[in-house]
Formats: sequence, structure tokens, C-alpha cells
Amino acid sequence: MRVIPIPQLSDNYAYLVVDEGTREAGIVDCAEAAPVLAAVKREKAKLTAILPTHHHYDHVGGNEDLLAALPGLAVYGADERIPGLTRQVADGDVVSVGGLAARVIFIPAHTSGHIAYYFEADKSVFTGDTLFAGGCGRLFEGDAAMMIKSLTKLLALPDDTRIYFGHEYTEKNLRFALTLEPRNDALRQKHDWARARTAEGGYTTPTTMASEKETNPFLRWKSDELRATLSGRFPALPMTDVDVFAKTRALKDAF
Ligand SMILES: [Zn+2]
Repeated sequence: MRVIPIPQLSDNYAYLVVDEGTREAGIVDCAEAAPVLAAVKREKAKLTAILPTHHHYDHVGGNEDLLAALPGLAVYGADERIPGLTRQVADGDVVSVGGLAARVIFIPAHTSGHIAYYFEADKSVFTGDTLFAGGCGRLFEGDAAMMIKSLTKLLALPDDTRIYFGHEYTEKNLRFALTLEPRNDALRQKHDWARARTAEGGYTTPTTMASEKETNPFLRWKSDELRATLSGRFPALPMTDVDVFAKTRALKDAF
């Protein structure tokens, strides 16, 4: 399995997933068809499936153009708002790209129909706008409790899982994270790396589950330092997991 990140719009990523055995390919989250079709041609691949994580335009805006160029593509998804949807999937369903298999993980909260695609054999997961490097998606169609539940499903994946996320937000995410955990050495080092990488125009995708467990404040609602920072700044804040998470999310929304 080969994964090729394709920058889209200002800071989105589409990912071309190629089965190197059959040259069949799937595209995760296509906002713009032209650069995706160019990558398919370059790879000498046969695009057979669109794998959207959720219905937002910056993840599906290229679907109709892809379907016009390549009629007969399968379009997966868990949300009827996805343009061109041909097969509605649910948690635990398996979709294939050539000889590759991805399990659907239902992770609502950013939107009510958000899913991840988990290619277990290749230890790779595509998390759209639910889990970013150093961050998580905004709670547009769910609440903090729902997002904790969704992220907890992703936390069950092995530490060496590669996480391919929907936006290049890493530097800013980690800069925010440092305001809550200034003494987290792994976080500081990763922020330095992301800042340098972003400055030279490089990608920070993919990340790994191990790295996210160490650095992502939205997976660290149990962190003593994060909790101490919040209770210092907001003495009346109840310290339940949901309250800690919700306050972290609210602070990030305003960052
Ligand atoms: Zn979105």
C-alpha cells in the first residue's frame, strides 16, 4: 500500500491510496479533482473508489468532477449529504481498494456522520477532521462527550498506527498545546520540528498514535499538567473528563 498526500485548497489533504499489487486506487477526501486525477495518472493507477470521511465541502467538493471524469466510481460514506454517495457504510463495515481492506470506524462529533478508514494490515488510519496532529475537529454536530467517545475508539488503535489527517494545522495546534502543557518535552520537541517543517513548506502528515498520545491535548484530558493549568486559570471548572475536554476545545476555538 502506498499513500500519496495531495494538497488541496489552502491547507487540506486528499490521500491517494494505491494497492501496489493491482494498481487500483482510492482517494480519501477529494476537494479538487484536477490534482487528484494528475496524481492517478502519474502513478499509473486505476481509481476505483472515493472514500470521504465526512460531508464538508473541503472533503467532498471534487466528487462530482471525479465521477464525471471516471464514471462508475464507488463513493463510500456514512452521511447522505456526501455528493455521489453510492454505498452508505456503518461502523465495522469493510470497504476495499483493490486487494486492500479498510474497516470503517464511526467517529461522530465534528459532524454527525464522520468516519475514519482503518487499513489494519498496513497500520494506517485516515481520520479526516476528527483527529489532527496535535488537535481535533470543532464540535459542529456533536458535543464534548461524543468527541471523547469517538477519540477513545481511535486511541484503541496500536501505537505505531500512522494517522493521516485532513488539514495541515500541526504547528498552530502544537503552539496552542504548549499553552496548556509548557513542561511537556515531547510536545516542545514536536512543535520545534513542525515549525521548521512548515516553514520550509513540508508536510507534517502522517503522525502516529504514540506521538499523539504524548502531544495532543485532545487525547490528554487525564494529563496532570493540563488539568493543573486549567484549574489554575478557571478555579470553578469541574474537573470531569468532559469538562476538561470541553474547556480545552473552547480555548482552542478562541486561540
Ligand atoms: Zn470538516
